[in-house]
Amino acid sequence: MLNMVDLIQKKERGEELTESELSYIVNGFVAGNVPDYQMAAFLMSAFFKGMTVPETANLTKVMLYSGDTADLSELPGVKADKHSTGGVADTTTLILVPLVAACGGTVAKMSGRGLGHTGGTLDKLESIPGVCVEQPISDFFASVKKNGAAVIGQTGNFVPADKKIYALRDVTGTVGSIPLIASSIMSKKLASGSDAIVLDIKVGSGAFMKTPEEARELGKLMVGIGQHCGRKCIAVLTDMNQPLGTAIGNAWEVREAVEALSGLVPMDAPLMQVSLTLGAAMLKLSGLCQSMDEGREKLTTAIRNGEGLEVFRHMIEDLGGDASYIDAKKIGELTQTKLQLPVAALREGYIAGMDTEKIGNASRILGAGREKLSDVIDPSVGIVFRKRIAEPVEKRETICTVYANDSKKADEAIKMIEEAVLITEAPAVSPTLILDVITE
Ligand code: URA
Ligand code: CA
Repeated sequence: MLNMVDLIQKKERGEELTESELSYIVNGFVAGNVPDYQMAAFLMSAFFKGMTVPETANLTKVMLYSGDTADLSELPGVKADKHSTGGVADTTTLILVPLVAACGGTVAKMSGRGLGHTGGTLDKLESIPGVCVEQPISDFFASVKKNGAAVIGQTGNFVPADKKIYALRDVTGTVGSIPLIASSIMSKKLASGSDAIVLDIKVGSGAFMKTPEEARELGKLMVGIGQHCGRKCIAVLTDMNQPLGTAIGNAWEVREAVEALSGLVPMDAPLMQVSLTLGAAMLKLSGLCQSMDEGREKLTTAIRNGEGLEVFRHMIEDLGGDASYIDAKKIGELTQTKLQLPVAALREGYIAGMDTEKIGNASRILGAGREKLSDVIDPSVGIVFRKRIAEPVEKRETICTVYANDSKKADEAIKMIEEAVLITEAPAVSPTLILDVITE
């Protein structure tokens, strides 16, 4: 007979728990048979003693099967998905999903909303008039079959174990454990049902993982979990020491995605480099290219010939959206605000660093994000950056422009951005954009 005190002590000694022991803990906690204080003690032991890769994979599996899982087997081919650990001005999903589909891939994507300082794909899509992300699963499947790709809001009882465990981690100081983070993210990703998963592990001032070492450990563990559960996985470590694209804010990010799919964003821009790398990894795992370079080339072709933009237009139509906005000349109508205020450099020098989380929070204060899930978003507000790290600035030169509908909120956001951007006399170096690609 298993009992919780023995299992807590086994983890305290740093021993590896078996799948049936982890099942006893997690399912007991979900069912209400394991009380919060015992689960908290277990999480704290796991926090300090760590977990092995097979152990974390078993924890993930147990969590995964605590609720509903999506069955994508009626869809053709390898189903590829992408997950980001959360970034700012990161509209890569809206760029790469249609591009991967245009290159023959299948993407059945269940997305979430933005919370805190990071944006969410569903909120961005809803800035297009008419879009409804809550669709019957049959319509979602029909859309994937027709277009190669579709995005839907995750509904149903997915991974209840994570909801309950995360709430307890949040109040017991155990969120920061890498095995607990990996199992939390991977259980939800595996529940979405795709065969191949590309993970964008963000590193830096706007990310959960502040150092490349932690991010690499998380990436390796997540790839290991995926493989253990019979899925193909690649993790890409990318820089989040500054906003990835130029635009933050919902309609603003859709606009940048439409411009990207229209070939109007330079291919060497960081947003394009990350989108093409993640997209190439999806094509590679789908067996649609031999090398990452070949994948990037195929995706670039789908931008040049307009096929990616065409897929995006169909995806929006299928969500009930007005697809006439999926046009670089018309999309700007969604980004009209009462106020357009430049944020000026307070001194001459070089942009040496950015507190990206603070910049994300500035956009949230404008109305682009939420603090709690019931907050209402203003799709038109946002921040557009003109400068990146290492670029020189003159005193009073514009660093970014704030687009707002409320002058008090705008003042607050401007103050935060001024505090978030570090300008030094000495030249600064640009952070490496793609730090690593982890395949196994
Ligand atoms: N995101 C998650 O979904 N879970 C974590 O534990 C951390 C970040
Ligand atoms: Ca000068």
